[in-house]
Amino acid sequence: SDADSGAPTIFDKIISKEIPSNIVYEDDKVLAFRDINPQAPVHVLIIPKLRDGLTELGKAEARHGEILGQLLYAAKIVAEKEGIVEGFRVVINSGASACQSVYHLHLHVLGGRQMKWPPG
Ligand code: 5GP
Repeated sequence: SDADSGAPTIFDKIISKEIPSNIVYEDDKVLAFRDINPQAPVHVLIIPKLRDGLTELGKAEARHGEILGQLLYAAKIVAEKEGIVEGFRVVINSGASACQSVYHLHLHVLGGRQMKWPPG
């Protein structure tokens, strides 16, 4: 399936800046940019610049530990920059049944409104 193929995704073009995005934070390993279809006043996606097999969290291997930690720490940096560090949510949809639509691992950082639980 597309989900398993490791084919290029739209995020490759965002990384290469072939497609413009609203970048919130960037370092050598990760890129954070605003979601095109925001589900909250703040909705930022954080991705590894090098996918390296991380199409989805469910495919992570031990060697991905460092970048996974860097992505999670970047979520905190983004929350701070966006002024939501006192209350925010981080979501990773892994696989079709979790509504993953882009098969390049990404964290959603959501905030700026009262969030609901459970998410459904
Ligand atoms: P998923 O459903 O895979 O967890 O999340 C993919 C996210 O990528 C969606 O929230 C969707 O709005 C966002 N997205 C898809 N295409 C683009 C794009 O071209 N630019 C930006 N900024 N976000 C995108």
